[in-house]
Amino acid sequence: MRTGWLAVFTVAVVFAGCVNPLPAAHEAPDLTTSWRALLGPATDRVVVQVHYTPEHVPYPAALTTLADELGRATGKPVTVQTPIPMPSTGIANHTVADLLAVHARTFTLGAPLLSGDAASHTAWLHVLYLDGARAAGASQSGETIGLHIGSLPAIYYFPKVQHLNVVLPPASWDLLAANDEPVERAILVHEAGHALGLVDCGVPMVRAHDDAQHSCHSASDGSVMTALVGGLQGVLELLQDNQWVPYKFDADDLADLQAAQASFQGGA
Ligand SMILES: [Zn+2]
Repeated sequence: MRTGWLAVFTVAVVFAGCVNPLPAAHEAPDLTTSWRALLGPATDRVVVQVHYTPEHVPYPAALTTLADELGRATGKPVTVQTPIPMPSTGIANHTVADLLAVHARTFTLGAPLLSGDAASHTAWLHVLYLDGARAAGASQSGETIGLHIGSLPAIYYFPKVQHLNVVLPPASWDLLAANDEPVERAILVHEAGHALGLVDCGVPMVRAHDDAQHSCHSASDGSVMTALVGGLQGVLELLQDNQWVPYKFDADDLADLQAAQASFQGGA
């Protein structure tokens, strides 16, 4: 990407016919990771684009919660665009390649797979509500409800994964059905937390609060970044034990984000 920025600047200088020196590579804002785009000084606003398959219309309140938490996390104004319907992918169990492809195919805000646009000072996040499920793999079970991949500005929500891969007792069905919206808002904020690089996965920790058993997740059950949020069994455990699923970043998460913003401001 650094090469890409140099190419852009080179073209701009040639067209302008000016003699300004090329900026050093380190001066080009790095928007190639979702957390640098969302938190760094090159952007001053966040735009969220939402695509959903027909059976999974987003809860407006869940998207409002996502915007509120992104605003708290970044200190920047957040706009959620009107959700856009998309056809079913027709895939029962999505591989990472499938998920990258649907993001690239549907995202209209900027270059797919990138995180922001320094020229418009905008960082973006793409939210995809998919039918089907995440393919079960070596490190993933078929009960994944939410997913963020690498450092991409895309998060995935599989609202009805319990219909596909998981056998549940009747009481669990009832519990999930009664908590559709609270689960949705928690998954959206949790995956956005991964896009923000939380819990030492892009953004370093000010105070240790990582879960030794689950990298990139918080040891605090009060944080939306607990590993229990993201998988069906974990969400059920929270609902059964606490009658509640955390959906906010906690003080440790926010301290990490503020420290990261200070370091990005300093050009680190
Ligand atoms: Zn997670």
